[in-house]
Parts: sequence; C-alpha cells; structure tokens
Amino acid sequence: MKYPICKHGDTRLGVVTITLERGDSTIVFRQVPGEMCENCGESFHSADITEALLRQAEMVVA
Ligand SMILES: [Zn+2]
Repeated sequence: MKYPICKHGDTRLGVVTITLERGDSTIVFRQVPGEMCENCGESFHSADITEALLRQAEMVVA
C-alpha cells in the first residue's frame, strides 16, 4: 500500500520504534510491528497497536 502521508513510497512491514510522551515522561517502545515507508522512512502502525501502547504507557507512568 502507499504511505498515506507522502503518497510516494510503498510501505513494507517491519519493526518500528515508537516514542510516546506522557507529561514529563518519554516512553520508547522498540521492535513494534508496523510499516515503514520506503520513500521517506516514516513509520506507522495500526490504531490497535497505538491504543495498546498507550495503555502500557499509562501503567508505566502511573
Ligand atoms: Zn513516505
């Protein structure tokens, strides 16, 4: 599929690094399954994964 932001590159499956900021804390998730754009290198992942990560982040920060 085409990457929706730059609309040039094709995406390919891989693992991505996601950084979430919660207040003063920054939480980094590595090796998250996602897709990466071959053109601009941007990565993205499904809403399900974002939600799961946010839930984990809440636990870490709380
Ligand atoms: Zn792109």
